[in-house]
Amino acid sequence: MVLKGQVAVEGIGIGLIQIVNINIDNFLNAYIQEDMETEKNKYQQAVNEVKIDIKQLLQKIKNSDDDPSIMEAHLMMIDDIMLAEKIISNIKQGQDAPTAITNASIELENMFNQLEDAYLKERAADVKDVCKQILFKVIGAKRFSLVGSNKIIIADDIEPSLMASFNSNQVSGIILKNGSMTSHSIIIARSKGIPTIVGVSVNLEMVNNETMAIISGEGHLIINPTTKEEEYYQLQKEKNNKLLSYYLSTAKLPAITINKKEVTVAANIATPDDVEYLEDNGVDGVGLYRTEFLFMESSQLPTEEKQFNAYKKAIMGCNQKLCIIRTLDIGGDKPLESIQLDGEENPFLGYRAIRICLDQRDLFKKQLRSILRASAYGNTAILLPMIINVEEIIKTKELIKEIMLELSKEQTKYDQDIKIGVMIETPASVMMASLFSKYVDFFSIGTNDLIQYTLAVDRGNQKVSYLYNYYNPAVLHSIKRVVDAAHNEGKWVGVCGEMGADKKGIVALLSLGVDELSMSSILVPERKEFIRNFNNDLIDTNLLLKCKTPDEAKSYLSTVEKQIDNSIKSKFT
Ligand code: PEP
Ligand code: MG
Repeated sequence: MVLKGQVAVEGIGIGLIQIVNINIDNFLNAYIQEDMETEKNKYQQAVNEVKIDIKQLLQKIKNSDDDPSIMEAHLMMIDDIMLAEKIISNIKQGQDAPTAITNASIELENMFNQLEDAYLKERAADVKDVCKQILFKVIGAKRFSLVGSNKIIIADDIEPSLMASFNSNQVSGIILKNGSMTSHSIIIARSKGIPTIVGVSVNLEMVNNETMAIISGEGHLIINPTTKEEEYYQLQKEKNNKLLSYYLSTAKLPAITINKKEVTVAANIATPDDVEYLEDNGVDGVGLYRTEFLFMESSQLPTEEKQFNAYKKAIMGCNQKLCIIRTLDIGGDKPLESIQLDGEENPFLGYRAIRICLDQRDLFKKQLRSILRASAYGNTAILLPMIINVEEIIKTKELIKEIMLELSKEQTKYDQDIKIGVMIETPASVMMASLFSKYVDFFSIGTNDLIQYTLAVDRGNQKVSYLYNYYNPAVLHSIKRVVDAAHNEGKWVGVCGEMGADKKGIVALLSLGVDELSMSSILVPERKEFIRNFNNDLIDTNLLLKCKTPDEAKSYLSTVEKQIDNSIKSKFT
């Protein structure tokens, strides 16, 4: 039997199925509520035990090559005042500890789920995960435990802490019924290189823990494969492993196309700890540091010192390669506890990003001051989000000048030549790119928002997701216009939206003349090799721009992508 899903982590997995399916109803039914103080104590005791578990897991992660940042976030989440206060207040209102934890979890999950930003939305999964761990301790239920090795795990969804406990010897693949492509769990699976497919409807009555399965690498789950199929996929897997070690061995080489264009391949980061992965993956610096996380971590705004330390860490971690720090991109769809934002009818078109920063000058000044102070420690650039007119650039540059004068007076060091760029995310910025290019050092195209605003298609709305893609000629023409405008002024253009990480996207962007791509570090070794095999002769930019429909452009880009993939694979056959 073959089922189809969406590839979340590429690769082939072969093994026996193990189903993650823990029913806690019996534990909950057997739970006996005691007096309020005892319920509070049971909760506190559980919190302490979970903290010990997470610290042990963190220790293991730190001894491996895995990314500790998500588990570190869990450790902070468990101490989050808002979460603790909600649980205690529920207990005070007469709820038993399990109900108090479950209700607080749902309330906070809903709050985070309403946020538009995929990264911030993921905090809902973190809350759920941490609360589930506390709940299991309170009711005395055991969490899922893996038996044996080379397993294909099947679950509705897997919480990040469970995913973090897996390693690629024990787990050869993961099948999720739900699960989004950008979830923390998927990010962890990706960092461990565990092949994963999401959106697969497996009928659990048809499989058990003795069932053999294969994850094909192209989004297929083959249940009970034939011996021939097993042999075929085993061979493909060995070939893929060779390719992966090849990508890693060449990761530090520059990404120069066959036509001799050197493309900078940088990383998108969410916390300064993410810079740890730059070196091994051959990443050329940070193309986008989303500073929102620093502001979302607590109910209070981060102090100048806290911001300075975070930015300095990221900058120093780039080892003189460029570290592009984006100023605060919140508002409307990404509310902050620490800033009062009124509910808006059209939050996407409302009070957000640069609009808030220029309005709340002290907040903006503190962030720019922190970035400027940190710029003394390496190669830094400031990136401004959601720009729609030149006044926003001029006002920001004036503020930066003012801060520079203050810092000079105080004899505080900073980079006097710090580079300033703007995100191209709105149709207005596309239309005005020629003018903007005279005021800034570079552009970074945020295709996630550019697609949404150009096509008037909400990037998070499933109902219209079929319209949301970069193949639409309107998006391709916009990018071309921006690249031409920048190059006319001798400025460079990067892409930090998801299009820059996608192979068909890369084909289009290189053909349109983009100079830099920024993506998750883990993808960099493979994408660099892809770029090294890119040849302008494979694609005619005029033909790409003449495509009348998204499907036409997609199929053209697909053909080129396959040719490049084949030329890489041919080196190994
Ligand atoms: C984008 O819009 O493409 C982008 C990189 O910014 P964000 O996803 O943070 O909105
Ligand atoms: Mg954006």
